[in-house]
Amino acid sequence: MSQDLLRRADRWLARRVARRPLALSQGPGVLSISFDDAPASACRLGRELLEDEGVRGTWYIAGGLTDRLEQGQLCHAVTDLQTLAAHGHELGCHTFSHRPCRPLSAAELLAEIRRNAEFFVQEVGVAAPRHFSFPLGDYGVLSKRLAAQHFDSLRLTRPGIHQGHADLNGLQAQALYGDGLPAEALQALIEQTAHLGGWLILYTHAITEPHVRWGCTPAQLRQVLKWGRQAGCSILPVGQAIEAFRARATGP
Ligand SMILES: [Zn+2]
Repeated sequence: MSQDLLRRADRWLARRVARRPLALSQGPGVLSISFDDAPASACRLGRELLEDEGVRGTWYIAGGLTDRLEQGQLCHAVTDLQTLAAHGHELGCHTFSHRPCRPLSAAELLAEIRRNAEFFVQEVGVAAPRHFSFPLGDYGVLSKRLAAQHFDSLRLTRPGIHQGHADLNGLQAQALYGDGLPAEALQALIEQTAHLGGWLILYTHAITEPHVRWGCTPAQLRQVLKWGRQAGCSILPVGQAIEAFRARATGP
């Protein structure tokens, strides 16, 4: 079997095992905005745009990218992460070195998770994050099972609206990219999320004008927030969205 076929088979199987279902009972739709890696522009301009709307987001950080250039984009500084935490945003984890998870041995993945947790505690001065996203959306059965032991949720890069239930060990997320989904399709997804009372997670990287390959423009992010508000969605970081759905399930 070719490597590519093996990878796809592993991913296919991974979506069906080690699931941790979260019931999404009736209520307003929920929109979560997340940023991966994360570039300095996401931590600065992205943060400001969310705060202008009075909402908070989730940043999945690879500590090893601190102060580095990635895809030509300056990454976060430690002070960016401290500002995000001080402003009530949610910090999440990638692997420390941004290595994709599927090719890693259990020991290697564990070392990446531990190193990123230490980075947050020792260098940022905050508790180790409880939520994780797979770098490059690369995961398999082993990495899903292992990461699930260390985090409250795991996010993929597989698009889709969660309706009825979500797999906390395999949260779906739609890319918000300048050359990604057309505006009308994105707006329709957000309106559908509101209509279904579902949960839509978006992810991007840099926030720049003009947009870079794995990023979007400030205007696009602003537009998405406006559509979310107009549709009546609650806009919540991933962890708070999970809490909101749990609270809904148990009632007042
Ligand atoms: Zn990443």
